[in-house]
Amino acid sequence: MINSKTSFLALIGNPVEHSLSPVMHNAALEFLGLDLIYIAIPCKNDDFHAVMNGLKKINCKGLNITIPFKEKAFKLCEEISPIGQQLKAINTLKVNNNGEWQGTNTDIEGFINPIKNLSLSGKKSTILGSGGAARSAIQGLINLNLGEIHVISRNESSLKNFINDFKSFKFIKGYLPDDAQINDLINNSELIINTTPIGMKKFNKDYDELPFGENFWQSLNSKTIVYDLIYNPKITKLLKLSEKKGCQIIDGSEMLVAQGAKSLTYWTNIEDIPIEIMKKAINKYL
Ligand code: NAP
Repeated sequence: MINSKTSFLALIGNPVEHSLSPVMHNAALEFLGLDLIYIAIPCKNDDFHAVMNGLKKINCKGLNITIPFKEKAFKLCEEISPIGQQLKAINTLKVNNNGEWQGTNTDIEGFINPIKNLSLSGKKSTILGSGGAARSAIQGLINLNLGEIHVISRNESSLKNFINDFKSFKFIKGYLPDDAQINDLINNSELIINTTPIGMKKFNKDYDELPFGENFWQSLNSKTIVYDLIYNPKITKLLKLSEKKGCQIIDGSEMLVAQGAKSLTYWTNIEDIPIEIMKKAINKYL
């Protein structure tokens, strides 16, 4: 029962309407018997700082940050975990004893969860996009000892910054979507990861699109594993196409639960998180 002592956790993003984090976290909070609720707060890009400053002053016990604010959240935290420092992207925050935002990133552990047992060491991979989630994905692939990592992104300057942040890893290279090598990259990659939001359900309408358009996917072959970080819809247009071509596909729902469980531990210090309850809650909606 929500009462006058109930505090809250929240997701901040633009958009947030597609998110199943409230459903998943509220199921866990209820199971754990905590006097906390989890809400989604849609936030206009220009209002981000004002919203974050306000939340710091009230009974907000923690935040998740989603598209497009993970890199902005990094710049706003006073205290950042080593993994957050490394990625320069924050998806989980709480207020520290000095009343300042303290942040970390739980996406890497979430990202790795569905692929950690796939023997990917030494294999070739391609990441689409160079935003906050791409940073977690690339660190996850580095941790799993992938052989080559290609990053394809539409924005030349953000791509350059991204590659520069990982410049000590010589096996990471960046490309624009219309570069001549793209067909070969798609054909030769053993793992392709979509970290762009293309294909995500938005404002209750299905986005019936493929990242970078139909032609981009011509050379995809059946030996490739295609991992889409989007979880709503569970099977995106990209995953449908990949499945048709005979590829193994992975959707973003396992990552969602795994990163959410780590965030819940960060906010509450509870280690024993009811993962099955969280999975069951989101599966009702997918
Ligand atoms: P972000 O920081 O805004 O990054 C998005 C990236 O996609 C940027 O490189 C952006 O390029 C690119 N992009 C956006 N729209 C595009 C378009 N129309 N065509 C080509 N590229 C486009 O967002 P994020 O936080 O990384 O999230 C990205 C996606 O991952 C979202 O769908 C999110 O829901 C999903 N995600 C899922 C999980 C999970 O638990 N399953 C966790 C994290 C993220 P520009 O820089 O040019 O805009």
